[in-house]
Amino acid sequence: MADKRDYYEVLGLQKGATEDEIKKAYRQAAKANHPDLHPGDKEAEARFKEANEAYAVLSDPDKRAKYDQFGFAGVDPNFAAGAGAGGFEGFGDLGDIFGDLFGGFGGFGGFGGQGRQQSRSGPRRGESLRVRLTISFEEAAFGCKKDVTITRVDQCPACKGSGCAAGTAPETCPDCRGTGTVVTQRRTPFGVMQSSGPCPKCGGSGRIIHSPCPTCRGAGNVRAQKKLNVSIPAGIDDGETVSLRGQGNAGSGGGPAGDLLVLIAVRPSPTFQREGSNLYVTADMSFVQAALGAEIQVPTLEGPVSLNIPEGTQTGSVFRLRGKGVPSVRTGLKGDQFVTVNLQTPKNLSRKQKELLQQFADLAGEKTKKKHRL
Ligand SMILES: [Zn+2]
Ligand SMILES: [Zn+2]
Repeated sequence: MADKRDYYEVLGLQKGATEDEIKKAYRQAAKANHPDLHPGDKEAEARFKEANEAYAVLSDPDKRAKYDQFGFAGVDPNFAAGAGAGGFEGFGDLGDIFGDLFGGFGGFGGFGGQGRQQSRSGPRRGESLRVRLTISFEEAAFGCKKDVTITRVDQCPACKGSGCAAGTAPETCPDCRGTGTVVTQRRTPFGVMQSSGPCPKCGGSGRIIHSPCPTCRGAGNVRAQKKLNVSIPAGIDDGETVSLRGQGNAGSGGGPAGDLLVLIAVRPSPTFQREGSNLYVTADMSFVQAALGAEIQVPTLEGPVSLNIPEGTQTGSVFRLRGKGVPSVRTGLKGDQFVTVNLQTPKNLSRKQKELLQQFADLAGEKTKKKHRL
């Protein structure tokens, strides 16, 4: 609020400005910064709102007196915000501001009217839809095709979206002549002003359907169940999304359909841990194998492979199998698989095994319980 500009300054006025001067300054500021003339210009929009807010206070003698005496604190900030927003709607129409200038709506009908019509009944993109799909660890790694059934808004197949029964056509609305917009008159601080709004006769569509399509009852679209076969790329990961362009809800007024976003959940594997494109497994082996070296079988996505464990391998040692990971969805390059050795201590030994191990310990000078020694 600290950087808020003084209301007089906003409208380029002196403190003692007359009502007429305020009106004139407001109309100039509103015209110069009207959003319809500066589409997408945030600065102009901000100046336009600022002018509306200043005018809402300065045009009201009561509020103006309080503002003169107490500044912004004298004007309820909620009121100011509300007036800003309300002013935007109420005085927002270009018709209001240019109306008296050009002597009526007809003089500039093509101006504001055109823009309005587009925003009300022009092409609108359909909504995008979301659906969750759970796949197995292997399906994610290799890619797969899955059927997904969704309910979506489709263009009515019977009338191809026109909303009219076969052999009939919509009538152009006589009240708005197809624009979907009508001009209404209203009292404002400048006198009787004209503004445009949606046509009540046709609901803003610009068309009247006398014989509605029996399938969609004139709506032009229908809710339908649709079964889609979705291709899931190899390497997709839990939480990622597959987008199907144009498979969401149908658009309106000739606009494109939305997308279908398939959110993928991947079931965990009992064998593999995955991080990005890399896989991690644990390989159990006996300490004898690790001490003497061995060739062990390790599971990979493509089946078991043999891995040479050199003699003297410690528990927790990690071996890398290059290219045995998961492909990247983007590059197709496969990650690696990392094998962590987990040494097992032998249990349930036979008498002979125990004797041999005791001899081994004796040779190494290691102390044992020796209770198996006979
Ligand atoms: Zn239909
Ligand atoms: Zn109409």
